[in-house]
Amino acid sequence: RATNDLKTKAAAQLKATKDKEHPPPPPPNVTEPPSSDRRDGAVYQVGRLLGKGGFAICYEGQLAGTRKRYALKIVKSKMPAKMEQKFQTELQIHSKMRQRNIVEFLRAFSFENSTYLVMEICTNGSLMDMVKRRKGVTEAEVRYYGVQIAGAIKYMHSKGIIHRDLKMGNIFLDKNMNAKIGDFGLAALVVTGRDMQTIRRTTLCGTPNYIAPEILEKGKKGHDHMVDIWSLGIIMFAMLTSKPPFQSSTTDEIYRRARERDYEWPLAEARYISDEAKDLVADMLEEADKRPDPDRIVEHPFFVSGYLPKQSDMSPRLREAPPS
Ligand code: ADP
Repeated sequence: RATNDLKTKAAAQLKATKDKEHPPPPPPNVTEPPSSDRRDGAVYQVGRLLGKGGFAICYEGQLAGTRKRYALKIVKSKMPAKMEQKFQTELQIHSKMRQRNIVEFLRAFSFENSTYLVMEICTNGSLMDMVKRRKGVTEAEVRYYGVQIAGAIKYMHSKGIIHRDLKMGNIFLDKNMNAKIGDFGLAALVVTGRDMQTIRRTTLCGTPNYIAPEILEKGKKGHDHMVDIWSLGIIMFAMLTSKPPFQSSTTDEIYRRARERDYEWPLAEARYISDEAKDLVADMLEEADKRPDPDRIVEHPFFVSGYLPKQSDMSPRLREAPPS
């Protein structure tokens, strides 16, 4: 009883700090100040709340004039230093990404003590919401999303970007049920480009369930980008079974199980999962230098020998109404 009270109190406190980090709801009309490519500025009419993150809050915004809808991601202009750094990384990296399975970043501006990011809107929630709603998806659907995510990873890696926080909650679904990778807050640039400073973070980052074991071991270098392939392995397992493979009550236990590759597939009676799917996931959860790259992933028998739905198959027949 006493522990429960403590837990409730701690949860309430956490919620209070989180709410403090979020900016207040925006006014009905948000004004984008004039800029070199938009001399008259712009006005966004604010619509429904899309979701809250660690420090950002997202609303739907309709651009007056074109009436096109966007996601407005809002953060306070003054943030604690650590969050400020995460946000700057996100801005720098996300604004340079352009690929069909990455949430399109359009612009950023300041308005009334907040910074606004204008992004492509994903109206069907995240992959996490979908898996929860559906209690698992079919192997054909896992192929559909798997190919899309692998394509986005290939693109990011070709630009020297490691996402480092790939998980179902960071993969959004647009109106046609296409997967769009978002939230570049923990991403890192590994190759020093001409116009980009090298950002390398040594701090522990990511979400316990999706973290590759080598991130936990200091001093291991050389295959950094393969952490995204590990995360894709976790995502595929979670799509197939509805829960991540190393799920445990404590973070330490998750890490131990990940290091020892201590996971089990559900029994065939409970849920049929093909040997090809199991084999591919096992490959992605190998040591970093043995993990397949995105090209090899999509050439795996799981993808080549099974049915791969087309976009027209995915929408709207397999779609369910997003949670209200
Ligand atoms: P944070 O970086 O603070 O974690 P997120 O980028 O995850 O914030 O955004 C917070 C929430 O806003 C997400 O969980 C999601 O519900 C919603 N969201 C974010 N980006 C979009 C988008 N492009 N389209 C629709 N909803 C979005």
